[in-house]
Amino acid sequence: MPLLGCIADDFTGATDLASTLVAGGMRTQQVIGVPNGTIAPDADAVVVALKSRSNPVDDAVAQSLAALEALRAAGCQRFFFKYCSTFDSTDKGNIGPVAEALMDALGTRFTIACPAFPENGRTVFFGHLFVGDRLLSESGMRHHPVTPMHDPDLVRVLSRQTSRGVGLIDYRSVRAGADAVRSRAAALEAAGTAFAIADATDDADLRTLGTALSDRPLLTGGSGLALGLPAAYRDAGLLANRDDAAALAFPGGIGVVLSGSCSQATNGQVARWLGAGRPAYRLEPQALASGAPVVEEALACFDGASQPVLIYATDTPEGVANAQAQLGQEQSGALVEKALATIAQRLLDKGVRNFVVAGGETSGAVVSALGVSSLRIGAPIDPGVPWTTAPAADGSTVALALKSGNFGAPDFFDKALRIAGVA
Ligand code: ADP
Repeated sequence: MPLLGCIADDFTGATDLASTLVAGGMRTQQVIGVPNGTIAPDADAVVVALKSRSNPVDDAVAQSLAALEALRAAGCQRFFFKYCSTFDSTDKGNIGPVAEALMDALGTRFTIACPAFPENGRTVFFGHLFVGDRLLSESGMRHHPVTPMHDPDLVRVLSRQTSRGVGLIDYRSVRAGADAVRSRAAALEAAGTAFAIADATDDADLRTLGTALSDRPLLTGGSGLALGLPAAYRDAGLLANRDDAAALAFPGGIGVVLSGSCSQATNGQVARWLGAGRPAYRLEPQALASGAPVVEEALACFDGASQPVLIYATDTPEGVANAQAQLGQEQSGALVEKALATIAQRLLDKGVRNFVVAGGETSGAVVSALGVSSLRIGAPIDPGVPWTTAPAADGSTVALALKSGNFGAPDFFDKALRIAGVA
């Protein structure tokens, strides 16, 4: 029965948290959307990936509560609300209102909020969030189209999202160790303060927080806050020692790389593949728009194929600008996503079981075309991108490596396929 139930407000954030838990030795399942009978009984942790970061507050709260209910029904005893390490939110929410609703449902009056992710340059000091050596409000986040962050003081930011008190567990308590954190949390709770922003400037701070607060029913934060949880659960006798947390049963057979990302890193990865003379098919938005039999041609590359094929729409910024000027931005993107999703589905029918997918939106389209709603998370291929396995719509097991645009080294495609045993 799973111990830890996590609710993440977006897909890649969910994968990031799941990878952290796997690295800590927890068998972790990621469920896409509110679980619907899809929770595996042999997982130690379940991470529900919602799309609730910038939805209307009521919708985000309703989705989060439905996820909580499913996680509780599956036996989870501890809960984690995961949001972005840049605390992406507005004065309306959704971090404050979702956290309040989860607290009420769990009957707890106190939780902490800690988005720190030092490895990626996100640190919290006296409640102020830094991105690298800049305050959050001076980072690129001030220009975010949906959740621009203009205030680096998270006590103030969260106070605007809740009518409950927001306090601070500053770095002096954190550096003094788990006992000091526990007493500071207890003092804040006794004073009727519902939230504490917690300072953390390195992984040791995050481990201290995790150790100190692992018995709390609800924690909220970035994936870094989960660093110390698996060890704390083991120490408390709640979690077995595992050396197989990242183990996946790969289906083997033929593999495909589907690339709909035009990010710089993906362009490099595609160039590396083409440069090595590997089989590839280029999918052009203009050809798709003209009704050319692009999908059929791409599928034909697999007839008698004995090695993996790259199907790519990846293009340079100039190429993308051209396609967008001719077809419109939305239309060109939608055509490519739909084509890659159809190709994925038809390849599944042809028996292909290994899918390396480049692009965040592209991954969403492919996963949904394959009918995948739940992923078992394996070891990272490159930082931030694990292999996963999942039951597909037809009942078979597929292996999926879902890479958001700028992730992965130039040899990512090859490396991923080699690990899955299909190169
Ligand atoms: P990333 O993670 O790199 O942002 P996404 O898959 O999220 O990648 O987004 C890339 C978008 O660009 C998708 O909507 C995709 O369909 C679109 N796209 C891919 N290739 C082209 C192209 N050649 N011209 C125009 N749009 C494209």
